[in-house]
Amino acid sequence: SVKEKTAVITGSNSGIGLGIAHSLARGGMNVVLNSFTDREEDYSLAADMAREHGVDVRYIKADLSNRDEARALIEQAGTCDVLVNNAGIQHVAAIDEFPTDKWNAIIAINLTSAFHTTAVALPMMRKAEWGRVINIASAHGLTASPYKSAYVAAKHGIVGLTKVVALETAQEPITANAICPGYVMTPIVEAQIPDTMEKYDMDRETVIRDVLLSRQPSKEFATTDQLGGTALFLCSEHAEQITGTTISVDGGWTAL
Ligand code: NAD
Repeated sequence: SVKEKTAVITGSNSGIGLGIAHSLARGGMNVVLNSFTDREEDYSLAADMAREHGVDVRYIKADLSNRDEARALIEQAGTCDVLVNNAGIQHVAAIDEFPTDKWNAIIAINLTSAFHTTAVALPMMRKAEWGRVINIASAHGLTASPYKSAYVAAKHGIVGLTKVVALETAQEPITANAICPGYVMTPIVEAQIPDTMEKYDMDRETVIRDVLLSRQPSKEFATTDQLGGTALFLCSEHAEQITGTTISVDGGWTAL
């Protein structure tokens, strides 16, 4: 049973990470929430979630662009049965205009942080004789779009990292998989709408219909609750032989 297990979810004070945290807490797991901020509301979010689901919920501040903070997050959690590498940022620009600092930040947060958290979490999982690594990649871990060089590179990278973690743990009761969402309406997507409106000279509704959902045959956004359910399934005994693979939750994007 997943009850009493501890899940650490990076980048979980918002969007998909928060949705996954709610699903795992609802399933009976203790949860560690994380982001780079250190605000009153981050800690009250944890307290509210604990009350709502009757489990332990802690908030640990760690800026995952920093190696030592990424590792300290898992060390401070103390146990990490389920590691969900979810923190991510986006920047949209043509390669020849792509700012180097944005490239470096995206690779650090979306890819390198997962290497650091996994490196510290795996010995804990081995000691506990059970573990789940769940990396939140993207449809952009399997396909590409223009103007998203760093993001697409990082997401393809984390799919590769997932496979290596799966092979290194293949004969242990540990699995590693990547969930590849299509578009989910969260702040990271909301933030891309103004730039895209300008780039293509379109209004908001047209960007949503013809740019964002153009790749998503269902013509619907996936929800954070659906991603939480997918993560909870990967923690279940039915998923024990699912390792080293990707699960798309993308309304048919990657079938096109
Ligand atoms: P979001 O902006 O709501 O969430 C991102 C989270 O990462 C936030 O909690 C943020 O505080 C955290 N974060 C950012 N920088 C950080 C840092 N330096 N250190 C620690 N935490 C940091 O966006 P989201 O849509 O929920 O994205 C979550 C993940 O899902 C990302 O990896 C994203 O690439 C991926 N994803 C999102 C979509 C989508 O359509 N929304 C699609 C595919 C994949």
